[in-house]
Amino acid sequence: MNRLADNAERVPVLIAGGSLVGLSASLFLGRLGIGHLLVEKHPRTSHHPRGRGNNIRTMELFRTAGVESAIREAASVLADNHGILQTPSLTGTEGHWLFREMDPGGKAARISPAGWCLCSQNDLEPVLLNAAQELGGDLRFSTELISFEQDAEGVTATLLDRRSERRSTVRADYLIAADGPRSPVREALGIGQSGRGELFHNVSITFRAKRLADAVGDRHFIACYLTNPEADGALLPVDNQESWVFHAPWHPERGEPLEAFDDERCARHIRTAVGMPDLEVEITGKAPWHAAERVADHYSDGRVFLAGDSAHEMSPTGAFGSNTGIQDAHNLAWKLAAVMGGWAGPALLETYGMERRPVAQATSARAAARSAEHSHPGYSAPATEDRGPQSNVMAVAMGYRYVRGAVAGADPSAPAVPDHFTVSAEPGSRAPHMWVHRCGVRLSTLDLYERTCVLLTGPGGAAWHEAGRRAADALGVPLDCYRVGEGPDHELAPEPGTDWAELHGTAPDGAVLVRPDGFVAWRAERSVPDPEAAMTRALREVLRLEA
Ligand SMILES: Cc1cc2nc3c(=O)[nH]c(=O)nc-3n(C[C@H](O)[C@H](O)[C@H](O)COP(=O)(O)OP(=O)(O)OC[C@H]3O[C@@H](n4cnc5c(N)ncnc54)[C@H](O)[C@@H]3O)c2cc1C
Repeated sequence: MNRLADNAERVPVLIAGGSLVGLSASLFLGRLGIGHLLVEKHPRTSHHPRGRGNNIRTMELFRTAGVESAIREAASVLADNHGILQTPSLTGTEGHWLFREMDPGGKAARISPAGWCLCSQNDLEPVLLNAAQELGGDLRFSTELISFEQDAEGVTATLLDRRSERRSTVRADYLIAADGPRSPVREALGIGQSGRGELFHNVSITFRAKRLADAVGDRHFIACYLTNPEADGALLPVDNQESWVFHAPWHPERGEPLEAFDDERCARHIRTAVGMPDLEVEITGKAPWHAAERVADHYSDGRVFLAGDSAHEMSPTGAFGSNTGIQDAHNLAWKLAAVMGGWAGPALLETYGMERRPVAQATSARAAARSAEHSHPGYSAPATEDRGPQSNVMAVAMGYRYVRGAVAGADPSAPAVPDHFTVSAEPGSRAPHMWVHRCGVRLSTLDLYERTCVLLTGPGGAAWHEAGRRAADALGVPLDCYRVGEGPDHELAPEPGTDWAELHGTAPDGAVLVRPDGFVAWRAERSVPDPEAAMTRALREVLRLEA
């Protein structure tokens, strides 16, 4: 063990970075009872609205983690904002909606218990922080990870308290690097990145302008792409009244310095872009950021794992970047809990990058395609760029799947992100949502997936249950078993007109094994002669348990 570690504070997991992904990791670990310390070098959560689109899958995860309603409350000011408007000016009659509704056909309500939620990062992060702290998480702001070393048993990290200037040492079993796109941890590990690199650059300007709401009127958009060639950019509401964000294209590749974006120029740019030369504009903040298509070559090195923007960067169109990061944290949390709890082999942790990296590669390409499709301000897409269809959003948000990793029997030829989303219970895909009743309480089957593996069967699944329990007991794996059907032998009653077996692609005597993160680990389409042997094989393969 490292010499520094002798007097070190001990924690099971150290999280570097307390923005959206670090806070999500803290929440998910807290829900699973895994002790951790999160360090964030800034004194508080983001005051800048930054990312804002939380997709259906992310909201499903937040629902299971018990924070969905708190997030909706924090997001209430933007609850009626929908669609992206593209127009040369806010004052004329020109312009068209790139899309008006996130879910025009109401499909989301049929496939999920959750829905899209527009919640600015500065409103979302405090909800995650509070929930993580209530679960006992130790979250320290103004605290920077300065350096770390790892050995076979753990990670020894040096921290700096930026208020007192005091240094301290922490010894952790694992380190999660949620330290953003410039990730010092990734750099220290020498992990490279692949992809097209930087696509375009923005200066994200927060400002107040009282009269702007009059020009916007009842066009309550998520974003408005303003296309005046003299001053283009994206306008985003913060409170639909006087607080706004404007993403102004910035061209460092043409030698344009960041300093050129002084308050006067920013205000002038905004006035020209919205078409209101007399608009009173008060600039309240500015931050540069870079849209890129870049994915880390490895997601882990020994006991250190990259999550969020440290692992992947994406163009903002579609809000795929932050969602992919939150979903990274969710994928990693249960695996750490399973390995630390002794019910999975250490090799389970290797499946984190195996599963998440292909998803990020496909998703970052879709994000760039969507920026091209929508002519995102500042992005000059190559003529050859694939301009993905609108259906990409649902396919990316809900259809991503793991063809290699902690799954048994997945189709290795299936794409990580399909062109179109179809509900499926094939191994490696998100388990379908179905409303059921348990002891008179209505719940989604997704609500069952968090702390244990779950075996679900239809009315003919009694043999699977016996077998599942015996196999899980013998292997020491926590497994909850439910039968979906009418009558006293069934733990879950379906709603009229729903058919568990049909939805899950099995015969009535089939079975589906679901992981704690709600992904299908394995499926038996019908009964087999020796269900206990089949369950044992599946659990061993999925959880990397040695025979
Ligand atoms: C100005 C701005 C505007 C943005 N706007 C949009 C948008 O409109 N749409 C969109 O989809 N996305 C946007 N993004 C990106 C979005 O915010 C990120 O995708 C999201 O925050 C998820 O990132 P993360 O938590 O992985 O990393 P980050 O948000 O980058 O957070 C990393 C955190 O790690 C901390 N940190 C780094 N090193 C250390 C260390 N050594 N010790 C302790 N702490 C450390 C940093 O202080 C930071 O808080 C924007 C980003 C910025 C900066």
